[in-house]
Amino acid sequence: MFDHHFFRDEAAESSLPVGGKVLMVDDEPRFVESLRPLLSLKGFDQQICNSGKNALSLLKREKFDLILLDLNLGDMTGHDVMEQIKLLGIETPVIVISGDNSIDAAIDALRNGVYDFVRKPFEPEQLIRAIENAVYKTRLERANQEIHEKLEQSRNVYRYLVDSSPDLIYTLDENGCFTFVNERVEMLVGYTKEELLGKHYSALVYEEDIDRAKYVFNERRTDHRTTHNIELRLKCRLGDEQFRHFENNFVTIVLKSKGLYDSHGGGGPFIGTYGVARDISDRKKAEELIHYQAYHDALTDLPNRTLFKDRLGLAVEQAKRSNEQFAVMFLDLDRFKLVNDSLGHHFGDELLKIVSTRLKKVLRKGDTLARVGGDEFNLLLPKLKSPDHARKLAAKFLDQLVSPFKLEEHEAYISGSIGIAIYPDHGETPEALIKSADIAMYHVKWEGKNGCMLYNKNMNEVFHRKLSMENELRRALDADQFILYYQPQVDVINSSIVGMEALIRWQHPEYGLVPPNEFIPLAEETGLIVRITEWVLKKSSEQFRLWHDMGFGHVRLSLNFSPQDVERKDFVGMVKKQLGLNGIGLDGLEVEITESTLMRDMENSISKLKALANGGSKIAVDDFGTGYSSLSYLKRFPINTIKIDKSFVHDVTDGMSEVPIVTAITAIADGFKMRLIAEGVETSEQMEYLKSRGCQVMQGFLFSRPLSTIEATNALLNQQNLFIRSGSAIH
Ligand code: C2E
Ligand code: MG
Ligand code: MG
Repeated sequence: MFDHHFFRDEAAESSLPVGGKVLMVDDEPRFVESLRPLLSLKGFDQQICNSGKNALSLLKREKFDLILLDLNLGDMTGHDVMEQIKLLGIETPVIVISGDNSIDAAIDALRNGVYDFVRKPFEPEQLIRAIENAVYKTRLERANQEIHEKLEQSRNVYRYLVDSSPDLIYTLDENGCFTFVNERVEMLVGYTKEELLGKHYSALVYEEDIDRAKYVFNERRTDHRTTHNIELRLKCRLGDEQFRHFENNFVTIVLKSKGLYDSHGGGGPFIGTYGVARDISDRKKAEELIHYQAYHDALTDLPNRTLFKDRLGLAVEQAKRSNEQFAVMFLDLDRFKLVNDSLGHHFGDELLKIVSTRLKKVLRKGDTLARVGGDEFNLLLPKLKSPDHARKLAAKFLDQLVSPFKLEEHEAYISGSIGIAIYPDHGETPEALIKSADIAMYHVKWEGKNGCMLYNKNMNEVFHRKLSMENELRRALDADQFILYYQPQVDVINSSIVGMEALIRWQHPEYGLVPPNEFIPLAEETGLIVRITEWVLKKSSEQFRLWHDMGFGHVRLSLNFSPQDVERKDFVGMVKKQLGLNGIGLDGLEVEITESTLMRDMENSISKLKALANGGSKIAVDDFGTGYSSLSYLKRFPINTIKIDKSFVHDVTDGMSEVPIVTAITAIADGFKMRLIAEGVETSEQMEYLKSRGCQVMQGFLFSRPLSTIEATNALLNQQNLFIRSGSAIH
């Protein structure tokens, strides 16, 4: 491997002592002695053996830097010793010193692996030079060997690191073909190293990404512009059972790569690329999921408000360019709250899911249906022929809500209110369009729900009136703008007033007398109702004090309570206290609540209503038959009275022999041994029909509208008038 003359020259330059351990093998003591001073001078430790056998046994035990060997030993020849040394695998250089002048002896010795051959007699310098060269050579070989071992070791370390790396590591040749891939590739994409070596990188790149992969996978640059953090997809081997099952037919990676040049510093020719690719499929999947969740509603899987706005923004841009119309609809479910409150959120959620499935059925290609709130949906309907077309579509959506919703053992009925805004007439921005549709939807609600309306500019004014109402409502109590009316409840058998229902109105400085339906829901929403109810209790009990004192102590006070009232912790105490202030006992009160109030927080309601009932109050279910509830609650609550809703009473028209729902409700009251009050009795036919079905107490315009306090007092004083007018007086 190395030419030893080269080392000889180097050694010649150095005259410093060399040092080391020398073994002299010679059977001539005089000759050995003559060498000693010379070797000492050069810093060698010396050991002497006078026979081949001794020398070999010493060599087995100790390590030497050099052996000086005579060819003629007493017991064996120097050649024999050489052979043994070889067999023993001892690599110490040997210099033969011999008196044999023949060239053959020298050749034999050298063939046996001897490092040098010095003939006797010799000049001391000649021997020293041979020794120094031999020692140098040994040292260099040893150093070389060490470097080799270290290299080998670090190569093993790198190979291990590369192969066990979680990343894909590769090199390409200048044509873009794989020259190296680590073992990771198999796990990652299902191809073996052997399959890929020699193949062009594009064999591994997902088709759609091939264009992007160009000059990225096979990067030529080495500077800061090199490819890093580039996302690409790699193809996976599919349908091969021996490999892992890949969910997708690709994995997503981020890539870093660099050009490879022949000499350091990049001066030489381009010889390929080396790169590292990390599998980020899991991260990608998580990102996609997060992205999906950010734009979709978890319950129904429909687009959410954010995505809807996005799409609406696009629709506006597109319609602007193509001069087209499109519709935005705002759909709010009616009575959803009732289902939620009475059946629980679980069923409420179920219902929303069914609603979204049903609505989806009617969607055309390109339409967007989004859930934007609890029971609120937005619709985007592009490419509209006319506003009428939008109305027809809205009707189709509403149709989907007509059939009952089966929620396990329950059946729920709901409807929807839809407001429609048309681009560009009702708004030119997403926000304006949604707002217009929202306002139109509110108008549907105010006008009795279950329908659709196109937005028009006048709606704005009404809407703002409603909004400002909220602020005004807060001030109305302090400004003393509420007023109570009383509607008599009459016993048609005995022709007497048995009760008075207090009905609130708002004397608005601008709008005049505002009916309760227009502000009670708002008061309930804002929580103001609790203070209003207290006011009603206070005012009505003051009035009843007066009527009691006038001798009408038997007339019962009927009061309407909202769910929020009953939910109050101190509900019972508050009612008692307010009545008590005017000396009215609980037994003078009839509590009117609706079915939905009963359904909310049942356990609590039951115990509170029981407390009132135990104090002598009557408990009445108002608007009976319109709420969503089961009859079983009638048994659980301390209910005395059913108020049959006026909508059923109105079903009784001239010449009708039978109104099944009225008959059914009267039968329920009878069966549960409850008192029945009919509301909204307007005609004598209705009165007669109800009377014939066993209903004794009635309330309605036939007898009297709700009256001011003065009118009501008059009515009490002149009761006969009511009955004469209604034609129900006993003659
Ligand atoms: P409600 O308790 O069912 O009251 C009966 C409603 O029917 C009253 O409407 C009454 O004026 C009306 N009415 C009575 N007889 C007839 C009739 O023959 N024909 C027709 N078409 N209607 C008739 P009003 O006064 O507008 O009250 C509406 C609702 O507002 C009440 O329905 C009640 O739920 C609520 N409300 C009224 N006052 C209060 C109150 O002080 N507190 C609470 N929480 N709610 C109240
Ligand atoms: Mg009532
Ligand atoms: Mg009612």
